[in-house]
Amino acid sequence: MNIPELPPATLRLRIDTAALSDNWRAMNRLSGAATAGAAVKADGYGLGIDYVMPTLLGAGARQFFVAHWSEVPGVLAYTGGGDIAVLHGVGNTQEAAFAKATGVLPVINSLHQAQVWLEAGGGPCHLMVDTGMNRLGVETGNLGDPVIGQLQVDTLLSHLASADEETAQNETQLRAFRQASQQVKHNALSLANSAGIALGPDYHFDLTRPGLALYGGVPRGTLAGVVSQVAYVEAAVLQVRNLSPGDKVGYNAVFTATKPMRAATVSLGYADGILRSWGTKGAMQHGDRKLPIIGRISMDMVILDCTGTDLCAGDFCSLSYDLPQASRTSGLSQYELLTLLGHRFTRVC
Ligand SMILES: *Cc1c(COP(=O)(O)O)cnc(C)c1O
Repeated sequence: MNIPELPPATLRLRIDTAALSDNWRAMNRLSGAATAGAAVKADGYGLGIDYVMPTLLGAGARQFFVAHWSEVPGVLAYTGGGDIAVLHGVGNTQEAAFAKATGVLPVINSLHQAQVWLEAGGGPCHLMVDTGMNRLGVETGNLGDPVIGQLQVDTLLSHLASADEETAQNETQLRAFRQASQQVKHNALSLANSAGIALGPDYHFDLTRPGLALYGGVPRGTLAGVVSQVAYVEAAVLQVRNLSPGDKVGYNAVFTATKPMRAATVSLGYADGILRSWGTKGAMQHGDRKLPIIGRISMDMVILDCTGTDLCAGDFCSLSYDLPQASRTSGLSQYELLTLLGHRFTRVC
């Protein structure tokens, strides 16, 4: 059938594209002599690749990082080619063939991946060296392997495990990366993610790879005044009811009213990424009124204490998505808060 136009959404993700643009420019400026790329993996950190790509391109970003090959078409649709790197690299001939066909460079992460790439015909690629995170990347002890010597390495990368912390591991990784850079021929070097950019010029090299900070995350205190919030969560009230003392609320009746109350049921739930961990401390906002979440968060709904307000069905409430604050409230990381955002939001810019 011909689907008629949808009625107005009851769940909105407002994306401040000006803030996203400013955040990229700030990260680029903080990168000093280095150029900032942009990590757009996981659907642009949950905000939607179709919303973040035009904005990042408009701001001046030209180098994009995704994790999976499945994420490449969404980026190519905007760049039409150019500089896209796939962080998971090539583990088999199909992935290598896809890389060749699209011109997208794999980040080679192991001797096996190097072999796969060379057997597919080789050509320019990036190389990730593991400098102590022990997650993904060629071990420093293997950089002298002939198979690595045959690669045409464009950018040599490594990744910081604890750039958001004050720890000697950062310097240890920096030293290991410098050493690696002397063992592998390369055109460019790249070490810093968002937090790494804030560690200062020693960490910048040629290309930085901010992700979180572009989308409003603040991984280090020094970025607090620099990064602005990008994502705003808003949901409509579906129903309002009066509660009497003793009335129980929501699944498993974990909340019981002890006084006469009003409760509002709002169109937002854990399927949208608002996990139950928001429960005991979380609240939504209507105007300047704070409305605490009561009872368990359901798949599609949360219930709010709106006692003393004239809130009614159809009113929109907002969930504070200031990421550092929301992280403290929910116990979720700033990265999780972004990438959990579900597919039912109507995204508005
Ligand atoms: C995700 C990722 C980034 C971006 O990190 P942020 O902490 O979000 O800035 C950079 N480099 C690699 C290898 C990544 O996987």
